Amino acid sequence: MDIELTKEDLEFEAEVKAFLEENAYKDGDAEKWRMGWFEKAREKGGWDVPKWPVKFGGPGWTPNQHYVWQRATASASTPWDLPFGLSMLAPVLMAYGSEEQQERFLPDIRARKVNWCQGYSEPGAGSDLASLKTKAELSEDGTYYTVNGQKIWTTMAHIADWIFCLTRTSSDGIKQEGITFLLFPMKQDGVEIKPIITLGGSHTVNSVFFTDVKVPVENRVGEEGKGWTYAKGLLEHERSGIAGISNSIVALEGLKEKARGVKRGNGSLMDVPSFKSKIAALEVDLMAVEYTELRSLATASAGAAPGPESSILKLKGTEIQQRIQKLTMEAGGQFSAAWAGFNSGPDFARGGTGGYMNSRYYTIYGGASEVQKDIITKKVLGIKSSK
Ligand SMILES: Cc1cc2nc3c(=O)[nH]c(=O)nc-3n(C[C@H](O)[C@H](O)[C@H](O)COP(=O)(O)OP(=O)(O)OC[C@H]3O[C@@H](n4cnc5c(N)ncnc54)[C@H](O)[C@@H]3O)c2cc1C
Repeated sequence: MDIELTKEDLEFEAEVKAFLEENAYKDGDAEKWRMGWFEKAREKGGWDVPKWPVKFGGPGWTPNQHYVWQRATASASTPWDLPFGLSMLAPVLMAYGSEEQQERFLPDIRARKVNWCQGYSEPGAGSDLASLKTKAELSEDGTYYTVNGQKIWTTMAHIADWIFCLTRTSSDGIKQEGITFLLFPMKQDGVEIKPIITLGGSHTVNSVFFTDVKVPVENRVGEEGKGWTYAKGLLEHERSGIAGISNSIVALEGLKEKARGVKRGNGSLMDVPSFKSKIAALEVDLMAVEYTELRSLATASAGAAPGPESSILKLKGTEIQQRIQKLTMEAGGQFSAAWAGFNSGPDFARGGTGGYMNSRYYTIYGGASEVQKDIITKKVLGIKSSK
């Protein structure tokens, strides 16, 4: 596709850059700034929900405008945001939720008032998600479900207000049938959260246990037993989001700058051929995946949901993020092993090894790389299994 920016795109780019500069964090209450930032972005005409359709308050940007926004925000001071409500649940509610559910949940997601988490994976049901066992039983009078079971790897469950959760309402037929998509609050009796500390030493993921949690039927999205269809659509949105191409472009430029500051002989690390060739290979791969992302943006702006190409983005985008982390650790050398607060080398090196170790999960969450390769083989290349 043509990514030549038009005169209008360049004017838009200037407007975006001015907005980001004017609203960058300066000092004071960070949470107040965060909420104010989203409010101002909203006043610009849906800039707080760039990927939402116009019908739900989005800006209706062209692919080039999305491109400009992603590049500009990747290197600007923007507030933290979680993808679960905004980029994962919202599209499902827009497509399959009732009007009442859209009115009830979308405004708070948009205002960043309610944090959501994703209750999909279970011990024994990750790649093979349809094997999930968390049970939801409908009451005799048909007014509520009782949920029992366990989820695992639930990101940010410890700060989430609500969960969108895949549950099993029937074991008849194939395992993809009988899955039901429920929404319920996290802060209630019967929901227990236990932290999981990852290799890099941080707490982002959790185990979540449900004991007799009561969920009113009006919190069911779509039909009972049809949750698998809704869940799959959501995964495609999740995978496109994880690729993080714009951030990788900024991170790669940052890495080159860091490497230029690391002395080697009379020059810098960037003059060492073995390091330089790794950077060059990374840059070429990043450019290729950037073009794939642009094709995906073009599809999205034409109103279509992301398709199997989101698997290419997830696969290559996360590998690139890992390579950047690995090279950052290499550039920091022995100083990368230092943990926060203890460091005698260059500033950037601190936590380099921790960052590298954390990056191992990029190729697991949102669907492991092997699973993405399987999807690409079948849905993009059209190769059928011989089984
Ligand atoms: C940091 C992190 C955050 C996460 N956040 C969430 C979250 O918020 N909510 C949520 O629901 N889940 C979350 N997950 C779970 C994630 O989606 C699963 O870990 C992932 O789907 C893999 O499942 P698994 O861990 O059960 O591994 P398994 O499915 O057991 O896979 C183990 C290995 O076998 C390979 N494998 C499995 N099946 C096949 C196959 N058919 N062909 C070839 N190879 C295969 C896999 O690629 C992998 O290498 C998170 C995971 C991580 C690591």
